[in-house]
Amino acid sequence: MEFDVAVIGAGPAGLQAALHAARKKVKVCVLGKVNNSALMKAEIENYFGTEPKSGREMLEITAKAAAGFGAVLMEEDLLNIEMEGEAFKLKTESLKEITVKAVVLAPGISRKKLNVEGEKEYHGLGVSYCATCDCNFFKKKTVAVLGDASMAASAALLLREYASKVYWVAKEFKASPELMAKVKATDIEMVQAWPTKIHGDQVVRGMMLDNGRDLTLDGVFIELGAKGVADLAMEVNIFPDENGYIAVNRHCATDTPGVFACGDVTGLPWQLAKAVGEGCVAGLSAAAYVKKEKE
Ligand SMILES: Cc1cc2nc3c(=O)[nH]c(=O)nc-3n(C[C@H](O)[C@H](O)[C@H](O)COP(=O)(O)OP(=O)(O)OC[C@H]3O[C@@H](n4cnc5c(N)ncnc54)[C@H](O)[C@@H]3O)c2cc1C
Repeated sequence: MEFDVAVIGAGPAGLQAALHAARKKVKVCVLGKVNNSALMKAEIENYFGTEPKSGREMLEITAKAAAGFGAVLMEEDLLNIEMEGEAFKLKTESLKEITVKAVVLAPGISRKKLNVEGEKEYHGLGVSYCATCDCNFFKKKTVAVLGDASMAASAALLLREYASKVYWVAKEFKASPELMAKVKATDIEMVQAWPTKIHGDQVVRGMMLDNGRDLTLDGVFIELGAKGVADLAMEVNIFPDENGYIAVNRHCATDTPGVFACGDVTGLPWQLAKAVGEGCVAGLSAAAYVKKEKE
């Protein structure tokens, strides 16, 4: 099978890239499962031009639009990529072989899990992996942020603008000196401990710690960072940074000619608006690369 552009990932970044590339009349395929997008579980209330809307609906509409412009959605994952001269050979999970001239990497990230009792049960019922997304639901509530690094400190500072009480729970506090100073200038309570259980009834009510404390809470924000997609990227000579992110320039081009990247995989913020914006740029850049046009 031959296409001009393969988009790896069927989330908002990948679908937007496919839509924009297909409108440039290049042959586009999309690998990845719409149902596995992070957006599937989101209720979006911070995106341009929309009132709160389900992520599922947004994905379904955009997948249909991309297909309408000619992109072929394959609903299967990529197993590996090989570089062959200027072309890329892709193998899918059903062992289909696809040859393309350009690749757009949009595989998202998976948030690191805490792996304690109650985490899975209360996900969406008080347990969140995204302070930027969910802060507004915790106005005047009591929340805890979990994590050692700057990401957790930033989340705690953001949540303090909404919640009435914020705990920052960490084994060690290793945020940057600037963020540490900012946290210390607030009434965020820093608790050096680690959770053993998140508990509640219909929703989160509290969290037990390994120092014997039981915090009464409405929300728990797990801010442990991302699990990367390093293996796929390294197959095309791209070496993600220590956080697992892929570096791109303003055309969403990576250091490997013909490989572009967009969405959560290029770094923070993990937000729909950024994913869609970068998807547009990556899709147009990939189409221009294939057509050997100057951008
Ligand atoms: C619970 C929750 C709530 C959120 N709320 C908000 C919000 O309110 N506002 C906001 O702006 N953002 C929100 N977000 C974040 C938003 O959903 C993400 O920023 C966005 O989905 C990132 O898009 P993406 O396309 O980069 O990655 P994803 O949406 O994660 O899509 C990645 C795609 O890549 C595919 N993939 C992965 N590996 C492979 C492979 N090997 N082969 C083929 N395909 C692969 C996956 O199957 C998936 O289709 C929320 C996220 C979550 C989880």
